[in-house]
Amino acid sequence: MAVPIEAVVFDLDGTCLSTEQLIVDVARRILQRKGSSLTKEALEQSIGKPPLDAWQSTIDALGLEQSAEDLYVESEAELTEHWHDASYMPGALRLIHHLTQRGQTASLKIGLATSTPRAVLAKKIQNKPLLQRVFQAVVCGDDDDIRGRGKPHPACFLKVCSLLSVEPSRTLVFEDAPSGLVAALEAGCHCVYVPSIANDSAEEALSEAMRQRVTRIPTLLAFDPVAFGLEAFRDTVEGTIPFVEHPESVIRIRGTVVKGFGRGSSELGIPTANVDTMAVARVLPGATTGIFYGWASLPDTYPGKVYATALSIGWNPFFKSGDDDVGSAAGKKTCEPWLLHDFGGEDFYGAEINVLVLGFIRPESGEFSSLEALIDRIKEDGEVTKRVLAGEAMMAFREDEFLRGQ
Ligand code: ADP
Ligand code: MG
Repeated sequence: MAVPIEAVVFDLDGTCLSTEQLIVDVARRILQRKGSSLTKEALEQSIGKPPLDAWQSTIDALGLEQSAEDLYVESEAELTEHWHDASYMPGALRLIHHLTQRGQTASLKIGLATSTPRAVLAKKIQNKPLLQRVFQAVVCGDDDDIRGRGKPHPACFLKVCSLLSVEPSRTLVFEDAPSGLVAALEAGCHCVYVPSIANDSAEEALSEAMRQRVTRIPTLLAFDPVAFGLEAFRDTVEGTIPFVEHPESVIRIRGTVVKGFGRGSSELGIPTANVDTMAVARVLPGATTGIFYGWASLPDTYPGKVYATALSIGWNPFFKSGDDDVGSAAGKKTCEPWLLHDFGGEDFYGAEINVLVLGFIRPESGEFSSLEALIDRIKEDGEVTKRVLAGEAMMAFREDEFLRGQ
């Protein structure tokens, strides 16, 4: 990085907080009250859209009678009661902690630029003490000089830079939405872009000069502060990021083992127990991908047993451009735990599976030179998983009641 970074500015929704999860939960409850239910298709079509459009897509997908406006009003009212339940985006709590730690460039300033109105912000961070105290400047969507000039207008970022007394060119913005990306760049900032929407190609619309100021990553867990002249993280174990330091970062996926393309066993020699997508969408932001590790259990099929697992969550980019049959896998997100245990040729399709995700190994990659290289890397992920899970804090999680089906 040519210019030293003096300030970091965060967007809130979709960057720090996983408010999308909350919105999906509320939508699910509202639909239930209407005698309908949120299907995978409806969810896929509405996710990442502004609320009114999202409701219209849901109405179209489910063939509902109601108007998008009515459902929107109903969901906003219910969301107000639940904003404080929003969880951190994976890696957000850790990153913000890190940026504020002693030893970090003493003068590093931290700000927030959100479209959220100030009163709603208070609700969203109500039980997030870190977010309440960490920002030296906070700009909200309903501030007098911002109203009517929301993102992609650069006003909010210009204002936060001015409040922090830093040059935009020395400011690093974290954003998840195309409009926020444009706003940050128009303001003259650098942007770490962590897109929330799958298959987002926001950079294509940018000028070459602007594109130079964008660093895209698939999740905050993949952010490397050193690349921006900031202090390296000190919490890695065997090159992985364990979640145990911040217990609220542990991810609990409970679902059903479903059929995939059968590629795991046949092409890779590595079977993966694909978890139904709704179960994953319930607990993980749609945008989050990567290779993770943790403990898994199949409480009904193999009661009392806990297995180490390396799991991939994402789009299987290596297989995206292939023959027709695998080509159809493109655009479908999967969650695939490889249980590090020999089941002697048995399968357990249809079984309930619990996965306690305890750490991040690496971003998902389509860059492997060959199938063999991919297989080698997955096996390496398996070895790393076994070594890291042998640690005391990790072993303690084997007893977590979630794995016993509770
Ligand atoms: P699919 O594409 O249908 O997931 P795979 O080739 O990945 O097919 O095989 C996965 C299935 O194999 C799992 O659903 C599970 O029933 C079974 N299986 C057997 N051993 C394992 C293991 N060690 N880890 C995960 N799944 C396993
Ligand atoms: Mg599989």
